[in-house]
Amino acid sequence: LIERMRAYGETVFAEMTRLATETGAVNLGQGFPDTDGPASLLEAAARHIREGVNQYPPGPGHPELRRAVSRYRARHYGTEYDPDTEVHATVGATAGIAAALLALVDRGDEVVVFEPMYDSYAAMITLAGGVRRPVMLRPDPATGRFTFDPAELRAAVGPRTRMVLVNTPHNPTGTVFTAEELEHVAAVCREHDLIAFTDEVYEFLAFDGRPHVPLASLPGMRERTLTASSAGKMFAVTGWKTGWVTGPEPLVGAVRRVNQFLTFSANGALQLAVAEALDTQGEWVAAQRDTLRGKRDRLAAGLADAGFDVGVCEGTYFVMADIRPLGRTDGVELARALPREAGVAAIPAQVFYDRQEEGAHLLRFAFCKEDAVLDEAVARLSAWH
Ligand code: GLN
Repeated sequence: LIERMRAYGETVFAEMTRLATETGAVNLGQGFPDTDGPASLLEAAARHIREGVNQYPPGPGHPELRRAVSRYRARHYGTEYDPDTEVHATVGATAGIAAALLALVDRGDEVVVFEPMYDSYAAMITLAGGVRRPVMLRPDPATGRFTFDPAELRAAVGPRTRMVLVNTPHNPTGTVFTAEELEHVAAVCREHDLIAFTDEVYEFLAFDGRPHVPLASLPGMRERTLTASSAGKMFAVTGWKTGWVTGPEPLVGAVRRVNQFLTFSANGALQLAVAEALDTQGEWVAAQRDTLRGKRDRLAAGLADAGFDVGVCEGTYFVMADIRPLGRTDGVELARALPREAGVAAIPAQVFYDRQEEGAHLLRFAFCKEDAVLDEAVARLSAWH
């Protein structure tokens, strides 16, 4: 293994899901729904496979998917993308993140990124030879909502900065960035002529009427922003690993160049099924968001009853919980013990931080589970504590 990858061991999601399986724990760690996406989506995939969509689709993605992506972005956000040159299908958002970082970050380039951060960002920036310049997200003392200090963002930008990497709605904090917050990012990008990469896989999981604001929709940002999305999150089919990136032609072209040699293409039958769902499943997506909002409230109330100090969750399907009221301070140690001790698995938020001490006292719980599963987890945690 090359030297710079040695710091990256097995992902925390794999470790915690394995622990959950071994111990029979309720798995609120790795974020995946325990119910399937819309029946018509599943049917369409099966039909396309039966009807012979079983060979390589074009590298940039099935044209039907690229057109459907272009349509939904115009419909929801008013941003136009040419399906031929400005949309590229990927093997999940993960491959879009990987291809973009490998294509656009050169050795020694700096990437400004908010921490806590989704685990693949750090690894892929490192693999690309880049350097992270983290900006801390901290709970606002008044509201508990995680946000950043614009001065810290500005201070993170230097002469080697190439890119700012954003994630909204944000995993793991649950923050949905406001237009005002994103405008701080946009201003820095415009002033320093930076590329923005924005991971918006939870774009349809902003709760309580809060709008999801795409970074690319801000003034001067469309021409410098690559956006990653995931049908896995949108339609509750995480195992399909079907996603896409949208952006201006030069940036999407760079992603294409690299992605040719990463995966060449992705899964055509699933892309066709997703294309249909993008056009027809808006109501399902909205209902799913409302269902998940209810699950957020259910789990948050249960965790509070069990003694945790529960964070604010505006979007995604994760909620953060402070373990200090339980007399614990080491989230990694607790997450490793919890499946066996309590019969519940969660993710230690510390692994999402460069400055790990900032997240040591936090666990991330996923609430994209059947109500009975959430209730069982809460009952076990209450009994344990
Ligand atoms: N995105 C999901 C999470 O954050 C799963 C990630 C994974 O398994 N790599 O938990």
